[in-house]
Amino acid sequence: SKDNGRNTVKFYTPLMKSQIDEKMWMAEELERAMEEQQFAVYYQPKMNIVTGQITSAEALLRWFHPVRGTIPPVHFIPIAEETGKIIAIGEWVLRMVCKQLQTWQTAGVSCLRIAVNVSPKQFQHPQFIPQLKDIILEFGVDPLYMEIEITESTLMDNTEETIHKLMLLKQMGIHVSIDDFGIGYSSLNYLKRFPVDALKIDQSFIREVQEDSTSAIVTLMIALAHRLQMRVIAEGVETEWQLDFLRFHGCDEIQGYFLSRPMAVNDLETFIVQLE
Ligand code: C2E
Ligand code: CA
Ligand code: CA
Ligand code: CA
Repeated sequence: SKDNGRNTVKFYTPLMKSQIDEKMWMAEELERAMEEQQFAVYYQPKMNIVTGQITSAEALLRWFHPVRGTIPPVHFIPIAEETGKIIAIGEWVLRMVCKQLQTWQTAGVSCLRIAVNVSPKQFQHPQFIPQLKDIILEFGVDPLYMEIEITESTLMDNTEETIHKLMLLKQMGIHVSIDDFGIGYSSLNYLKRFPVDALKIDQSFIREVQEDSTSAIVTLMIALAHRLQMRVIAEGVETEWQLDFLRFHGCDEIQGYFLSRPMAVNDLETFIVQLE
């Protein structure tokens, strides 16, 4: 605010300078990463708790930098958001996923649904839905195999416009889930107005589900989702104890290291074959 700015002395500490340099470095490198194909899409399976079947897989972006090695999404996605690069990167991920679905469809193997993370800026872009439609058409993908994951904050911005877009996705047959549920600020009153298929309980709750207060919240979130006719997915499941708790309380699906880490597509295919 104005008041805060008035008496601020503008100087940069060495730490701040290195953080700014780091940001600028990354913004430039993101451009090159696209051109030089340093990105890959990894997949993490989700499992139906009752049947043990793999229901879908989440696409997770990986950046293998020639000098720095693997750069985790938490480091570069926020900068991609800030600089607008997320639009091009997000489109690339959608294309890779549709290409993969096309490969499976053409090979006649039983196809998995794939969930794609869509950032707020990407979802709010006016071209998001038309572009998604184009990509789906281009690869001849059945939209039933597509899922979009958006966070609570995406939902709560521009609510009317968001509801309209969610309706369009639903008409196309695309699944939608709310990612990182419970840590954002979605109003429970709004939740009923969003035509979404599933809630993904944020992994911070699952990590502490052995604590009484957290287990109470998780149980309530499962009940809430079911009352709203939504499926519930628990993310970040790492132990058998957590799995048993979630099964007992009627959670529909799990995702997490206990089942599998995110992996390259050929490893995903092997993983699924081994389960069958
Ligand atoms: P997210 O969408 O909440 O994805 C789940 C994150 O938790 C992934 O981290 C996944 O590898 C990690 N994870 C899964 N199971 C476990 C577990 O059992 N324990 C622990 N500790 N972690 C687990 P990742 O791949 O590093 O991605 C981080 C975030 O970056 C994602 O969080 C998502 O917000 C964003 N992201 C990743 N790929 C994309 C993308 O293609 N587009 C956009 N817009 N965002 C992406
Ligand atoms: Ca996600
Ligand atoms: Ca998540
Ligand atoms: Ca997250």
